[in-house]
Amino acid sequence: MSQSFLPPTRLLMGPGPSNVPKRVLEAMARPTIGHLDPVFVAFMDELKGLLQWVFRSDNTLTLPVSGPGTAGMEACFVNLLEPGDKIVVCRNGAFGQRMVEMSERIGAEVIVVDQDWGRAVDREAVARTLAEHPDARVLAFVHAETSTGAVSDAAALAALAIEHDCLSIMDCVTSLGGMTLEVDDWGVDAAYSGTQKCLSCPPGLSPVTLSERAAEKIRARNYPVQSWFMDFSLVMNYWGGGGKRAYHHTAPVNALYGLHEALLILKEEGLESAWRRHAETHQQLKRMLEGLGIEFVVPEGERLPQLNAVRIPAGIDDAEGRRYLLEEHGIEVGAGLGPLAGKIWRIGLMGETCRPESVTRLEQGLRGLLGR
Ligand SMILES: *Cc1c(COP(=O)(O)O)cnc(C)c1O
Repeated sequence: MSQSFLPPTRLLMGPGPSNVPKRVLEAMARPTIGHLDPVFVAFMDELKGLLQWVFRSDNTLTLPVSGPGTAGMEACFVNLLEPGDKIVVCRNGAFGQRMVEMSERIGAEVIVVDQDWGRAVDREAVARTLAEHPDARVLAFVHAETSTGAVSDAAALAALAIEHDCLSIMDCVTSLGGMTLEVDDWGVDAAYSGTQKCLSCPPGLSPVTLSERAAEKIRARNYPVQSWFMDFSLVMNYWGGGGKRAYHHTAPVNALYGLHEALLILKEEGLESAWRRHAETHQQLKRMLEGLGIEFVVPEGERLPQLNAVRIPAGIDDAEGRRYLLEEHGIEVGAGLGPLAGKIWRIGLMGETCRPESVTRLEQGLRGLLGR
């Protein structure tokens, strides 16, 4: 007879998922109720309020898309782009590349602004490209490039979109909850995130928020959204508020309990305090790594506090080193992606994982690995 699966306890210091507090797991174990139950509908309104709070936005169109970060990403692209629309995509890592691929599948005309992996998006290059393409409808960029550990100036990029009369799509999967992020102040039109990075929730939901300008674009579309499941004009009949909750798809009830609890925990700490905790713990990690002679990939000033890309120490095998940390120390660190595979490790300090104790434990693991 098969047995229940009992996973080991790990210290998750990779690019996500991050560790999940017991309170969130307990919330998810509460009784499942109907997703159209009046009690659940009231709960959804509260959850929407918490999402607006964490995004720093008053957007009515704010909801958790059922699916991981990539689902929220695809939802934003299929709703805001139509075949033939011109989009400018900033590509400085794997997630920018994913944006390009999604836009191409939609049949959009894609203009790419490339930047070296490991660097921030170059604002001037984006400004030049937008000036050369006055018919561009959308500007898309990744705030926190988890594949390389680089942060870009999202406020400046969103301002460029406004200046050039484009809608902006911002990937904030890794930045939300981990660093300064202001959807309304920056004037971002569409932002999507994920639950398993700095929100410390299991993977499976993607918080999304859309401005009134973005909603207008969706209403004015010439073609229906190609994806029925992700068509926001349909989803909003369920999440839209105003009391009328029509069936669209069965909401992942217990996953939503978890997200609600995770946002409550963040609210108790305070958003600015959480941002500060990420910045301070990153400094502690940096001192520890430098003490061991381990080098960062991204220049100082463009580094993400919550995702630290470092060169694999000399003489250490990529897979073998990560296996040692996982099996001997219970610590997961991430491998490199694309051109950085085999060259770097990605050390996450996201959400619940972002504690001084995590840095101390990793130091022990790395000392064991390096024999020091
Ligand atoms: C993790 C991540 C995604 C994708 O999220 P999934 O939940 O893995 O689908 C997208 N963009 C960035 C920047 C990410 O870090």
